Amino acid sequence: MKNQKWINKKPFLIAGPCSAESQEQVLDIANSIKGVADIFRAGIWKPRTSPNSFEGIGEKGLVWLEKVKQETSMLVATEVATPKHVELCLKKNIDVLWIGARTTVNPFYVQEIANSLKGVNIPILVKNPIHPDLGLWIGAIERLNKVGVSKIAAIHRGFYSYDKLTFRNDPKWEVPIRLREISKNIPIICDPSHITGKRALIPTVSQTAMDLNFDGLMIETHNNPNNALSDPDQQVKPKKLSQIVNKLIIRNASLRNKEFKLQLLELRNKIDVFDEEIIELLSKRKCVVEKIGKFKIENELTIFQLERWFEILKSRKRIASAMELDEEMISEFFALVHKYSIIIQTKVMQKK
Ligand code: PEP
Ligand code: MN
Repeated sequence: MKNQKWINKKPFLIAGPCSAESQEQVLDIANSIKGVADIFRAGIWKPRTSPNSFEGIGEKGLVWLEKVKQETSMLVATEVATPKHVELCLKKNIDVLWIGARTTVNPFYVQEIANSLKGVNIPILVKNPIHPDLGLWIGAIERLNKVGVSKIAAIHRGFYSYDKLTFRNDPKWEVPIRLREISKNIPIICDPSHITGKRALIPTVSQTAMDLNFDGLMIETHNNPNNALSDPDQQVKPKKLSQIVNKLIIRNASLRNKEFKLQLLELRNKIDVFDEEIIELLSKRKCVVEKIGKFKIENELTIFQLERWFEILKSRKRIASAMELDEEMISEFFALVHKYSIIIQTKVMQKK
């Protein structure tokens, strides 16, 4: 993927309200965060799940963003979902556009937007699709690349989660990490507001993003968050935004000191040994699983035994908790192990 370097600061910060609500609101917020944020964001057309929610102020909000530019000299950004949105934004000299998560899922929409950006060289930000499909995310970036857009950044805003226990959108960090492996020069910006859905969790997720060597953050910021017309629980006040950013620890991506390098190598060697042991144990476990498969055929038992699965889950979580391991991680791990046990046993059955 081609990408012209256009971000020269870490963390690169995009901030502003979820939605532009009035001219006073955007100007008030922009004036409070100028000098802190690098780009001012505000949604004009809002893709809402319910038609009864506030769906954005529409075209007239672009005039407010123009005012923000004039008053604060900040760059301004908004979301586009159709070629018409792109056309209107370009007419009003919006500096940066982003493609939202509900648009990235659809290659037809992305292609139409890309076509309308031919010959335009402003930065375009691409949010991850709602579900963890890395191919769609990369595909959207490639569609933009193909029409000549070369200033791109990916925005990681997490993935739809049905239970929403901790986060509104599951971060699944492995997905943006994989994107980074595939495309080394695309800047990745984390959106902790849409990941967490709760302002109290934004600092921790922002720090994680920095520790994973992300390039920047997009944090929803509102002058009166509790009364915001969209996403009230996840927006922070301008003062809080500054605190969050000031408290971030920016660590080095590579180690320069030789002594540290050796220490890290030693620790990594230990991890390698543990991983080998885990694989060896999984191989031993597989032999027993095959034996159980044969036993089930001989005794005409179904492969999947619901009570046994509940028992595995309960006991493994109990052991994990006694060892101060994350119970959720252990249940995800055993769900995977169990899934493959079933596949192995199905193969044994089919052979018979
Ligand atoms: C937003 O940034 O306000 C937004 C709608 O985000 P997403 O597309 O990530 O849901
Ligand atoms: Mn929002």
